This record gives sequence, C-alpha cells and structure tokens, in this order.
Amino acid sequence: MSSMSARVAEVIPFSWVDGPGNRFTVFLQGCSFDCLACHNPQTIPPRRPDTRDASVAELLEEIRSAEPYLAGLTVSGGEATGQWRFIRDLFGGVRADPRLRRLTTFVDTNGHALPRVWDELLPVTDGFMVDLKALDSDVHRRLTGRGNELVRDSIRHLHGSGRLHEVRLLLVPGVNDAPDQLARTADWLAALDPDLRVVVIGFRRHGVRPEFQVLLESTPELVAFAREVLERGGLRTVVTV
Ligand code: SF4
Repeated sequence: MSSMSARVAEVIPFSWVDGPGNRFTVFLQGCSFDCLACHNPQTIPPRRPDTRDASVAELLEEIRSAEPYLAGLTVSGGEATGQWRFIRDLFGGVRADPRLRRLTTFVDTNGHALPRVWDELLPVTDGFMVDLKALDSDVHRRLTGRGNELVRDSIRHLHGSGRLHEVRLLLVPGVNDAPDQLARTADWLAALDPDLRVVVIGFRRHGVRPEFQVLLESTPELVAFAREVLERGGLRTVVTV
C-alpha cells in the first residue's frame, strides 16, 4: 500500500456534477493558477489551517463505505495535478481493490501539467476533464495569471491518448466571450476532433473573491450564442450548463 498522503481541501462522497454518474470527489488543496473567476479561491494556497492531510489508505476506506452508490471517483481541486503522485497511487489502489475496481477514475484539471505527468496518470485514469479558460494566451494570462501553452499541449496529448472526456469553457462576459475568439476556439477544437464533448459554462459570481465581484455574469442568451458559434465552427457535441 502506498504511503502517500495529500493536502485535501474537501471530500464529497456523492456528487453528480464532477463527471459521469454519481461520484466520490476529492478536492485537493493548492492551485497553479489564480483565476479571477475562481469559485473556490480558498483552494488556491498550498495549505490552510483547515487543510486535511489524508493518506491513500484513509481515502480508500472512505470510498469503500460509499461504493455501492457510486459510478466512480473524481479528483479535482484546486489543481489536481499539483499532487499527481498521490492521484496515481490512489487510483492504483482503486484498481487493485476487488470491490473498487469497477469504479471509473476521472481527473478534473486546469491542464497546466507536463506530458510526463499525464503519462504517469494515463495507466490508472479513465477520463480527464480539462478547462480551457481562453484560447488566446494573453487572455488566458489575464484570467488565470499564466499563459495557456501547456494547457493546449495537454488537450492535444490527452486527446491523442483517447482519454480526453471533455473540454470545459467558462464564459466570462467581456473577457473571453468575443465572437472571433469563440469562433477560433471552435476551429481549434473541431480540428482536433469535431466529436469532442465541449461543455459551455456560464460564469456566476457565487464564491468569487470580493475584488472580482465586478465581473459580469453570463446570461442564458450569451451561453446559447456561444453554443451556436461553437456548433457553427464544426463541433457536434456542445453541452451548456
Ligand atoms: S484553476 Fe480552478 S481552482 Fe485554480 S484558480 Fe482557477 S478556477 Fe480556481
């Protein structure tokens, strides 16, 4: 059994919004980005006073308690891949456990990780859900504090591996919703795979830090418009939230 432990912000034993079906979701503490639109900014620092150190064995026991009701396990954040060795060992533990091995394993990520991290996770991970905060690197930097070169590489790499479950686009009005940028995003993603599942999420201010409460919320009309642009660009599986 692995002796790894992780800095855990929160565990949700039953979630319907973190991948397919009912999922046990682990939110790891610490993030490589500092997004203006972050709904969980308390997960950004590497550690907080209430951060829990949880071992692989402890979490496997908690997952076993919920197992009859689960379709799978998701690790999210913060940024999950900041503690990728823990994910590798946790998912490896799931695969090695006769009761748990039927569960699917997913990672919810901002995509800012090197190819070797994905290659370590691929043997034990069924699917990756990757955020693309903006196609243009300068817009991405404005939104997150970092450029998106690694994110774009990750999307290509994971798609090539056959494990890219979906790409998520968070629409922040006035920041990343310009029609030409949406059209170029559609072109880029459709060139990768027109059947790629793309999820458009309307920005809400809930949970966002006080200094960023000035950001505008997405309207249903904007989300519908974005979907139309993406579909016109050749994407056949666009979902809105
Ligand atoms: S990547 Fe996610 S957790 Fe990290 S700062 Fe951005 S929104 Fe928050």
